[in-house]
Amino acid sequence: MSDALAGLYQQVILDHAKARTGDRELPGADAEHYERNPTCGDEITVRVVMEPGTDTIRELAWQGDGCSISMASASVLADIAPGLTLAELAERTEAFRGMMRSKGAGEPDEDLLGDAVAFQGVSKFVMRVKCAMLSWVAAEACSTQLVAKVR
Ligand code: ZN
Repeated sequence: MSDALAGLYQQVILDHAKARTGDRELPGADAEHYERNPTCGDEITVRVVMEPGTDTIRELAWQGDGCSISMASASVLADIAPGLTLAELAERTEAFRGMMRSKGAGEPDEDLLGDAVAFQGVSKFVMRVKCAMLSWVAAEACSTQLVAKVR
């Protein structure tokens, strides 16, 4: 990745850390999960509301406290999630996890990940990978709860 591109991606993270999407309460949530990253001290609760009678996410919101990377990642996730089915969210979560394990190598799928590709640079810093994954792991736990409910 060129320095200019890396700078741009970093800007996406800074913007999301500042103007946080989905950082609020979500009354009537269908699923809720609290996740903590002891390495950095980040904490987050992710809540999901589904479109009634479907497996499509209406809204994903979160409340938490932590470093810019964890908060920005949650913000990007809240941007991406609405309108996705649980299966589509799982697909994006796997793509995001794969990117975060890539240590900066490889070509992330921008069509699939959208703004979340901004975190590719973070994957070079092993200590910060958990920060970026935190909200996604919490959303994954919500999804597991929801799948269990539907069946
Ligand atoms: Zn962190």
